[in-house]
Amino acid sequence: MSKVNLLAECSKASRIAISAHIRPDGDAVGSCMALYYYLRKMLPDTEVKVFLEKPSDVFSDMKDFEDIDSSFAEEGTFDVFFVLDTNKERLGGAAKYFETAGKTINIDHHISNSAGCGDINVVEPHASSTAEVLFGLMEEKLLDKDIAKALYIGIIHDCGVFQYSNTSPKTLEIAAKLIPFDFNFPRLIEETFYQKTYLQNQIMGRALMESIRFMDGRCIVSCVDRKMMEFYGVVPGDLDGIVNQLRNIKGVDCAVFMYEIGLMEYKVSMRSNEHVDVAKVASYFGGGGHVRAAGCTMKGTFHDVINNLSLHIEKQLERR
Ligand code: 5GP
Ligand code: MN
Repeated sequence: MSKVNLLAECSKASRIAISAHIRPDGDAVGSCMALYYYLRKMLPDTEVKVFLEKPSDVFSDMKDFEDIDSSFAEEGTFDVFFVLDTNKERLGGAAKYFETAGKTINIDHHISNSAGCGDINVVEPHASSTAEVLFGLMEEKLLDKDIAKALYIGIIHDCGVFQYSNTSPKTLEIAAKLIPFDFNFPRLIEETFYQKTYLQNQIMGRALMESIRFMDGRCIVSCVDRKMMEFYGVVPGDLDGIVNQLRNIKGVDCAVFMYEIGLMEYKVSMRSNEHVDVAKVASYFGGGGHVRAAGCTMKGTFHDVINNLSLHIEKQLERR
């Protein structure tokens, strides 16, 4: 895909909107805010808005975090609408702006969205994060501390602080260009990525305790139902990290974590270490993601869901 000139694409716009996927993670929030700062700085006479489902408070230290519109009450249309870190299917309340926008620009790194959904598409499946793709589209000399910090948040959240296999030399080169902007990166990593509240740790402990291993311990699954979430007083965002902890267990290649989002309906997160292509499994059930991290929504009982998933996971593991 050819390089897109972000500022030229926006030069005639008087209203621009930016959005990313529902249940926004660090990459979704970081990418949206980085682009928001960049466009506002370079196009001061243009109205720029960010629409996102309410992100976790761990990101609230970012500049102008309170500008994020999670009400989707705005009924106007936008000349340019940016879809970041997703296809148009997971825009939630912001989908209406996509439909009515003069021009749509999709910037992403999900292999399951390789065609892109915009009038203009920059989808790089080998990039660690959408923030990494965005960095490539920004002029380096125009970066500043807030943009750098937002991009850094996006990158570290999607590559597990440079641990996951999507970390490339390019990812590290970009990080090397960002940290001289002098934001407190050790603290940022600790507070937005690793730190968990007491209740988040408690429910993680519970999920680990009740996990079930199968396929000789090569797979593991755990489930949190609504009753359990109510008991601990947690929301879905508090469950982030559980699936990674399951994947960390010695001998496990594929970890599945699910939580109840409705009657007989589960949000499924999958991670793998080396062998299982979880994007393939998730795509089969209407979801998507990356080879080592993917998700989908599935209907049925816990046992229906895990039986359906394990069929596909086992097929991949047996082929080896
Ligand atoms: P998580 O398990 O952390 O929610 O998501 C892991 C990866 O899979 C992320 O890149 C996320 O965007 C993607 N993903 C999760 N759920 C879905 C889904 O239902 N549909 C699609 N297309 N991607 C998903
Ligand atoms: Mn991402």
